[in-house]
This record gives sequence, structure tokens and C-alpha cells, in this order.
Amino acid sequence: MTSGMTSNMTPGVNKATGKPAIISMRNLRKSYGIGTPVETEVLHGIDVELAEGEFCALIGPSGSGKSTLLNLIGLLEPPTAGELSVAGQSTTGLNEQALTVLRGRHIGFVFQFHHLLPAFTALENVMMPAIIAHGVATAQDEAVAHDLLARVGLASHEYKKAGQLSGGQQQRVAIARALSLSPRLILADEPTGNLDTHTADDIFALLREFNRERGSACLIVTHDPRLAARCDRRIELVDGRLAASTSVAEPA
Ligand code: ADP
Repeated sequence: MTSGMTSNMTPGVNKATGKPAIISMRNLRKSYGIGTPVETEVLHGIDVELAEGEFCALIGPSGSGKSTLLNLIGLLEPPTAGELSVAGQSTTGLNEQALTVLRGRHIGFVFQFHHLLPAFTALENVMMPAIIAHGVATAQDEAVAHDLLARVGLASHEYKKAGQLSGGQQQRVAIARALSLSPRLILADEPTGNLDTHTADDIFALLREFNRERGSACLIVTHDPRLAARCDRRIELVDGRLAASTSVAEPA
């Protein structure tokens, strides 16, 4: 139990949905340039819970702290203060190795500039998280990768190099890759930001489909109000704080 927790916040359980929380944040803060003359706090105490299976948009103006928050939740950067739990486990004091294990076990990433390995095939890219996690891709990992690529409509492109695919196709590969280890949470930073409207809608629909089918929670940074409106809930940041319209755990 953390010191800042109030009585209506049962740890690990989302107050509104009654479901376990996949992510729980208490008074999360992030500063850059600590100890330098340009030290700046960019997140000023964030309290949010995301329930298992929730499909949630993270919105707010440019510079409001959305990517920073996603990086903290994805265990890519440490918070400066506050408490962050992933799948019920507090991340405070965990070393890099433990964070990597927690990240690999529970979180899939879909970023705008997909970070695929361009010289590797679509299939190899989708198997990459398994290779990183187990040192080798098993026949089972390969079967999962084939299945996911078929599901995102790329069965006939499996053996093409990622660098030879279109932007929309690469983003489909990125989604298949994010799902390859069946994460309980998908973090997507502007997953449709560089795509035309039609392709963006397709990619968004895929995320929604996997959310409904597999129960993976999704937190999606988007500037597109149309897409945000189609999420179950919107978390809004303004200048590093939750906007008044965003409640701790209330679906929209
Ligand atoms: P958003 O994703 O909403 O556009 P960001 O999280 O990228 O916002 O940035 C929030 C604030 O933090 C901005 O003022 C940005 O300049 C600052 N910031 C982000 N990353 C760094 C960093 N590595 N070092 C210093 N400042 C940063």
C-alpha cells in the first residue's frame, strides 16, 4: 500500500469497472535535466488506472506530456517520483533486468515510426520479440507469427523485407509484432499518425478487433478526435496534468 493512496482506491482494482488494473499510477512525476539549470518537470503528479481490457485514448496538445507518460508506462524511462504498477506489480526499485522481464511479459508497443528492422522479413520482425525473450524462435513462435500476419492481411507478404512494404503494411507488421507474445497491454504512440484516413481507420479497427478478441488493454496516443471518440475512455493531458474532464477510473 502506498502512502498517497486514498481509501476509495483499492490497489490493483479499477474502481469503475471492478476489473483488475493492468496499470496503476499514483502521483507520477517526471523531470528532465535534473540537477542542471534547465531542470523541468513535465509530468506533475498523474493518478490514473487502466483496467484489464480497456481501450483508451491518450489525448492532449503537443508538448502536454503524452509520449513521456507512455514511455513511463512502457518502462522505457523511470519516473522521478510516484508509484507505477504494471499487472499488480510495483515497479519501484526494480533493476533494468527485472523491468525488461516485466515489459516483455505484459507490454506490446506500436509506435508511429514503427521501428521495424528493414533488412529483415515481415515474418522475422514479428518473431523478434520471441527471439529477444527466449533467445530463439520456436516452431510455435513461427506458427503464431504466420497466424498474426494472416490476421493483419499480410499472408502474401510474409517473406518481403520490412523496408519494401508500404507505410500501412509496415504498421500492420508492427501490430502483429506487438501482439506476438500476447501482451495484456498495448501501448500505441500515434499509430496512425503518418497514414491516410482510410489506412488509419483500418489500423485502428485492427487494434479494436484484437482488444475485443484477446482482451488486451490498449492505450493509444492520438491527435485524431474521430479515433479518440471511438475509444471506451479518453485520458486528457494538459501541461503535464490530467485535464479536469479526465477522472481517475471512470469510463466515458
Ligand atoms: P507530447 O507527446 O504530448 O507532445 P512530450 O511527452 O513529447 O509531449 O513532451 C512533454 C514535454 O517534455 C515537452 O515540453 C518536451 O519538450 C519535454 N521533453 C520530452 N522529452 C524530453 C527530454 N528527453 N529531455 C528534455 N525535455 C523533454
